[in-house]
Amino acid sequence: PIEPLSATMTSEEVVAATKQFNYGTWRYQKSWNPLHVVDAEGCYFTDAAGRRYLDFSSQLMCVNLGHKNPAVIRAIQEQAATLPYVMPGYATTTRAGLSKLLLEVLPAGLEKFFFTTSGTEANEAAFKIARMYTGKTKIIARYRSYHGSTMASIGATGDPRRWPLEPGAKGQGFLFAPEVNCYKCPIKHTYPGCNTACADYLEHMIENESDVAAVVVEPVVGTNGVLIPPPEYFPRLREICDRRGVLLIADEVMSGWGRTGEWFAVDHWGKDSGGIKPDMLVTAKGITSAYVPLGVCATTAKIAAYFDDHYFAHGHTYEAHPMTLAPAVAAIHEMQRLDLVARSRAMGSYLGEKLHALKARHPSIGEVRGLGLFWAVELVKDHGSKAPLNSMQDKIDGKVAVVEKVAAEMMKRGVTIQAWISHFVIAPPLIIEKEEIDFAVDALDQSLGIA
Ligand code: PLP
Repeated sequence: PIEPLSATMTSEEVVAATKQFNYGTWRYQKSWNPLHVVDAEGCYFTDAAGRRYLDFSSQLMCVNLGHKNPAVIRAIQEQAATLPYVMPGYATTTRAGLSKLLLEVLPAGLEKFFFTTSGTEANEAAFKIARMYTGKTKIIARYRSYHGSTMASIGATGDPRRWPLEPGAKGQGFLFAPEVNCYKCPIKHTYPGCNTACADYLEHMIENESDVAAVVVEPVVGTNGVLIPPPEYFPRLREICDRRGVLLIADEVMSGWGRTGEWFAVDHWGKDSGGIKPDMLVTAKGITSAYVPLGVCATTAKIAAYFDDHYFAHGHTYEAHPMTLAPAVAAIHEMQRLDLVARSRAMGSYLGEKLHALKARHPSIGEVRGLGLFWAVELVKDHGSKAPLNSMQDKIDGKVAVVEKVAAEMMKRGVTIQAWISHFVIAPPLIIEKEEIDFAVDALDQSLGIA
């Protein structure tokens, strides 16, 4: 038998080798001190020193079922023992089975699926499909958005992760509309008197730019602060896109899979008129609870029909990889069996109450907002200006933000949380219990003392 790696290296050696031979992304390399993680179960993971952490943001807002779900693990083991790989040109039972399940849970009208190994690649596929199908080039995204890290998807990203690249070095043809942020409206309106002026602004952009193929939006913006549009926004955006002949792409990489208390965030709106029907929906993360890397670009049958007699110049070795599809089937069945979409709603309202109470105690909190088990706590300098405690420029300059200090303090209390610029993104596994929410919010409460 081969000696397990864990027997050949001390924890210090593991951390030193990780730091020496790998990139710690989106931070200064010299300040990267990775924690050595050895185990995870339910809402917790454990480090090499045996300390347990409550995972209050599901790692990268993706381990929706919690760690070590037995049914998903079994599906991975069975697939590995049966058919670990075939190339994407073949039919497989798991591919057919997952496709049928997607038809059940995705918004109506999305009927053809392209399987990738990340949300980034699924967005790349969506952009390419939009450009080929419409024969147009430009894609409108929004500020305070994230769509991925490859050249086109980083080009579509509004947040500062796109800044370091020269204009010519990233995907071309992306334009940015103001984000929809009713707490601090970038175009200085106030809801509801604004009549969703942000949607008018976007229409103005389409009208004044020739050649717009698509609009891409996170229906609930994730990393950039859990920004939730008002109820009228999506029906209006759908109507504008239809009238202007522009495709609507919903990037639900983070907001999908029960995170917001519906299967997908777009399901919250336009219910009276049969729901919002995006032309494409991109997702990843929660589809397998991130146990294996899978992304999907789902399109309407109408878009797909174009490719009946046009060559879709795309494809990856790992496209529709059986090892990624089998656990997705198991993960969706688990979500259904455990009724996690309803649970996200119920636990989300409990979490929301606790966070609102927290806001009343801490003047540094400008706003808490959320849907389902997807919440942001935003820190501000003062309530009048709503200026963030730290800025995007601080991040670029490598300054440690207050939210990062608070997150480090929370770790000492056994809770991990995602901190970004000037807010926290709270997105625990959908199986979280009330006592665990109490424990984590308590840790946040105590740690905010340093803010
Ligand atoms: N789109 C959104 C909304 C995301 O939140 C992310 C990742 O956080 C991506 C795209 C990129 O997905 P991935 O990291 O799987 O490439």
